[in-house]
Amino acid sequence: TQSSLMMTWEEKQRFDVEAADLLVKELRKSFNSGKTKSYEWRKSQIESIAKMVEEKEKEITEALYKDLSKPETESFVSEISMSKGSCKLALEELKSWMNPEKAKTSLTTYPSSAEIVSEPLGVVLIISAWNYPFLLSLDPVIGAIAAGNAVVLKPSEIAPATSSLLAELIAEYLDKSTIRVVEGAVAETSALLEQKWDKIFYTGGERVGRIIMSAAAKHLTPVILELGGKCPALVDSNINLQVAARRIIAGKWVCNNGQACIAVDYIITTKQFAPKLIDALRQEVEEFFGKDPMGSKDISRIVNSFHFNRLASLLDEDKVSNKIVYGGQKDENQLKISPTILLDVPEDSLIMKEEIFGPLLPIVTVEKIEDGFEVIKSKPKPLAAYLFSDDEQMKKDFVQNVSAGGMLVNDTILHLTVSSLPFGGVGESGMGAYHGKFSFDAFSHKKGVLYRSFDGDATTRFQIVRLSKDEYQD
Ligand code: NAD
Repeated sequence: TQSSLMMTWEEKQRFDVEAADLLVKELRKSFNSGKTKSYEWRKSQIESIAKMVEEKEKEITEALYKDLSKPETESFVSEISMSKGSCKLALEELKSWMNPEKAKTSLTTYPSSAEIVSEPLGVVLIISAWNYPFLLSLDPVIGAIAAGNAVVLKPSEIAPATSSLLAELIAEYLDKSTIRVVEGAVAETSALLEQKWDKIFYTGGERVGRIIMSAAAKHLTPVILELGGKCPALVDSNINLQVAARRIIAGKWVCNNGQACIAVDYIITTKQFAPKLIDALRQEVEEFFGKDPMGSKDISRIVNSFHFNRLASLLDEDKVSNKIVYGGQKDENQLKISPTILLDVPEDSLIMKEEIFGPLLPIVTVEKIEDGFEVIKSKPKPLAAYLFSDDEQMKKDFVQNVSAGGMLVNDTILHLTVSSLPFGGVGESGMGAYHGKFSFDAFSHKKGVLYRSFDGDATTRFQIVRLSKDEYQD
């Protein structure tokens, strides 16, 4: 209507398709003005993010505690300092990332020069998940800004305190004409998905990933899907058991009580070695969280009652509940589930079919460690795969034979912190990657540009026919 055309999207009563349309128009206008393309704009916005994280550390930690009772140290290590690290790297490298890359030319085009120019895509949508609600929102935003785009961020409604803090802080610290936050759940996200974006970057589960991809297909919008999956840890017997146990615990219960996309979902080991591994895990869990992990302040709770009940039903399935070898305590009022280890649950149980995304850790046993490859291959490709082994041939075979978004040998989770490695899935764990320069590339179009001059006209495409076949192929 005429009156709604006069409105801005913020003046609308609720965020519907019309509001989303107004928002995208507003951002597209700013993008088309060219302001986001300059080095100065990109630098100033990333500097503002760094300042925001520095100044609002206390508020961020509190919001994460409200949403997940995330322990302070974990919030600092895995959300705050990682966001700061992404800003620092982008600020150090931005100039070199933005520089066109020289490319080789061929005899066919001689004389000529060529370069690959990274150009911003336009107006991009970032939809994030609740488990690392601060980092998973800001990290792709930093990449999108570094690449010179206008951005809309839709944080997860399942972490409401962090979502509203992000909305407030981004409005306060960043350029409102190009970077906006829309809060909300399915209705708001659906309204956003009706619009034409230049890229959609989605972090979350596979079911919604499919919804995002079909919505994007209508506009031929490219997507990056950062999904999840069942991340295996294959544990050989020739290892430093205590170190391995501590690293498995760090990658399972310390990181958000298993609510992490690259948390160890299940372990595979030999029948013979399983009892020793279980003993070591049990001892080290108590070392980390005390004899009563349910009472520990160092462990996050389950995010909400929906996820608590989902996890409880995985544990309560008849063929599974008698397989618990450690833990198994639940407290619905406090939304807590203790670190729980299960041995030899049936392959057709829900816990072995679905991504667990919580503190339950099934151990699958095999006769020979190599048989573990078949177990992994029988499931969709995971986001991460872990191997604990001291055998060089085994390491080579693992890398060669197992397909996963990323891999880590003799530890868990840490590959995510290496910004020179791409982070992303393969197959059902997603598509596309980010982190470090990969974040910049994720939000850039790589434009191939060939420059010719008016010189050397003798060697044109017509001349080529006179070259011998060998010369032409040179
Ligand atoms: P989710 O799929 O429930 O929600 C993610 C986002 O999608 C939220 O912002 C939500 O509002 C939106 N959404 C939910 N339903 C929607 C719908 N019908 N239409 C449009 N949008 C909708 O995922 P989650 O529970 O928030 O996250 C858990 C999953 O995310 C796990 O599978 C985990 O492995 C994965 N994950 C992946 C990564 C990664 O980096 N690859 C990181 C964290 C989590």
